[in-house]
Amino acid sequence: ASSESTEYIIDEHLIKNIYQPREDFVNKGTFGKTVMIAGSYGKIGAAVLATKAALKSGSGLTFCAAPKCGYNVLQNSAPEAMFIESGENFIEFLDLPEDGVLGIGPGLGTEADTEKVVLNLIKNQKMPMVIDADALNILSKNKDFLKYIPTNSIITPHPKEFERLFGASKNAFERTELAKRKAKELNIFIVLKGHHTQIISPEKEVFYNITGNSGMAKGGSGDALTGIITSFLSQNYSPKNAAIFGVWLHGKAGDFAAEKYSKESILPSDLIENIAEVFKDLQ
Ligand code: AMP
Ligand code: MG
Repeated sequence: ASSESTEYIIDEHLIKNIYQPREDFVNKGTFGKTVMIAGSYGKIGAAVLATKAALKSGSGLTFCAAPKCGYNVLQNSAPEAMFIESGENFIEFLDLPEDGVLGIGPGLGTEADTEKVVLNLIKNQKMPMVIDADALNILSKNKDFLKYIPTNSIITPHPKEFERLFGASKNAFERTELAKRKAKELNIFIVLKGHHTQIISPEKEVFYNITGNSGMAKGGSGDALTGIITSFLSQNYSPKNAAIFGVWLHGKAGDFAAEKYSKESILPSDLIENIAEVFKDLQ
């Protein structure tokens, strides 16, 4: 069944071909704007992690659209990002910069108003975006909207989110096959997260990631990944390269952090701090 697809391991050689060193004659406007749409009361941390990860991965201008209850913590913990007030305790409306590259989902919750905003956005956007977490859960409850996901968007489900979206699979092999069919049918990239995350393209290619460790099996790890991939998209990496580079870098940063602090003790915040080590290593 896999004869119709090509499989790759993501190695340093592939990454060095994808990685674009930052050139000299650039300014903060050279790249697009990264816009994280995230957070709700009690889950503002998800918005912070996604936003910080976007900043640390090189985004020129970074915004976070979040409810007002997150204003203080976001401005304090990520002062380089701009806050877009989008509701009181959860997202109720959106007023986004025109040329923003969107990453949507971390900590959003699934309130009715948020659901409406998310579905409306997915239906009306044309540019590829990154869709994660509660935005995927909202899509799972409204499967007729899956067809509106903009072409070449990247969805980043963990196994449970994948199952809610597309149904159960007997085993890992069947799940990959299902993901290939869906990536092709919907014309999107699917990042199937776990130990050895797979990136599946609309052409049914499968890219296996081998960075990362079990210290990353903690709430908040995925939020960091969403920020990283969105940041790469806004820096003009193609959706395929943004997904591959993002997943690899996320795992590698987790490996650096685990080396310093142990798998038990590393937090997604430590992973984000160690993104710097990965870039330094690439240079
Ligand atoms: P989420 O479940 O959305 O927080 O995403 C978890 C993130 O951590 C994904 O990027 C996973 O690939 C990564 N992760 C979780 N568990 C492991 C593991 N055992 N080994 C490597 N990476 C992991
Ligand atoms: Mg998650």
